[in-house]
Amino acid sequence: MSSSPTALVLGAGIMGLSAAWGLARQGFAVRVVEQDAVPNPRGASVDHHRLIRHAYGHQAGYMRMIDPAYAAWDMLWRDLGEVLHVPTGVLAVSDSAAGWFEGSRANLAADGHAHADLTPAEVTARWPMLTEAGIGAALHMPAGGVLLADRIVAGLARHLPTRGVTLERGRAVAIDPDRAALTLADGSTRSADLLVVAAGPWAPRLLPNAIAPRVAASRQILVLLEPPPRHRDAWARAPMLLDLADRGGFYAVPPVAGTPLKIGDHRFSRTGDAEADDRAASAAEAEEILAFARPRLRDLGDYRVLGARACYYDVEDAERFILEPLAPRCLVMSGFSGHGFKFAALLGLGLAAAAAEPALLPALTPWAAGQAPPAPGLLAALEAIDA
Ligand SMILES: Cc1cc2nc3c(=O)[nH]c(=O)nc-3n(C[C@H](O)[C@H](O)[C@H](O)COP(=O)(O)OP(=O)(O)OC[C@H]3O[C@@H](n4cnc5c(N)ncnc54)[C@H](O)[C@@H]3O)c2cc1C
Repeated sequence: MSSSPTALVLGAGIMGLSAAWGLARQGFAVRVVEQDAVPNPRGASVDHHRLIRHAYGHQAGYMRMIDPAYAAWDMLWRDLGEVLHVPTGVLAVSDSAAGWFEGSRANLAADGHAHADLTPAEVTARWPMLTEAGIGAALHMPAGGVLLADRIVAGLARHLPTRGVTLERGRAVAIDPDRAALTLADGSTRSADLLVVAAGPWAPRLLPNAIAPRVAASRQILVLLEPPPRHRDAWARAPMLLDLADRGGFYAVPPVAGTPLKIGDHRFSRTGDAEADDRAASAAEAEEILAFARPRLRDLGDYRVLGARACYYDVEDAERFILEPLAPRCLVMSGFSGHGFKFAALLGLGLAAAAAEPALLPALTPWAAGQAPPAPGLLAALEAIDA
């Protein structure tokens, strides 16, 4: 009788946990090594929420991964016994309908995803907490919503041991891709048939040759708000908001399922080190974000600022995900920038399908990079998982 193949996963953010989930479903005996608590407040995968939407500018490849991503989340909800997604729809506003708008609209139309152009007056009639200031184009999409990130990560951490996955607290100080092995800070080693490195914004420091030239850790600021009572009803039925104004845009995640309203900006700082102890945001850093939101959110001065914090993610120059072999028995997941969470369950299943059937591995990299549809074999393997 042959024993199960083994897998070792470095990192228990959403990517490592999703890979572990997929691998366990494929019959691997999985061990996850994580340096911090899970969910990890220092990691890229939590706070309260992450957004999922079809509108993807000119990047049709990622738009086309959204429906499979939803199917993968549905599989996870069945495993977790709860749905951790709140549908809100999406509203994007901008100075003009060029660029990201043009690409999104063309791709949404080509693939038959519902969307509607709104006038500035229609925007404020539906969501009176917004202003019309500078809106040259507004696009509403009824699909899309909020993934309850910290609850998903916590749910996976509870679920995985029921599939036989071991979650181990430990800090890896060296990676040996050829031997699919890790050395931990206490000098002990771990190895397996397959090693998956999913170290989030720590990846550039862990893999200085393979990842650092392509991916930068990027410190980003978030501000949490409580709307004044007169705007609470409007926020309760609000879509997620993408403001792509030329003056500097921001995004807003509406307060759903007991979470606060959150705003952040679209710029990448591309500075900092995830290992640094700098997750507090200064008043000046918070004010930079509030300044982007002030022209759009009516009465912003009356909102209560609940807090501001910094978080890190791992930015790849073209914002394309890296899911690649470092050696025949080692895969790296990196470069998830500010948009990877929504695809985590899908990428975990895809990685695991290819790990179980190595002939599929070459198809994995261009698919995860949003540059190719899944090869027929990978598609069949993904469909078979849920059969
Ligand atoms: C503010 C913000 C907003 C975002 N918004 C969205 C959004 O709206 N939609 C979307 O789809 N995506 C979004 N993202 C992106 C998404 O959340 C990230 O791309 C994703 O969570 C990355 O997950 P990860 O598992 O790769 O990284 P992480 O969650 O950082 O996990 C990596 C883990 O590896 C561990 N680790 C690292 N080094 C070692 C070591 N040497 N030994 C042991 N353990 C180690 C770390 O402790 C960490 O827990 C956002 C990200 C941020 C930060």
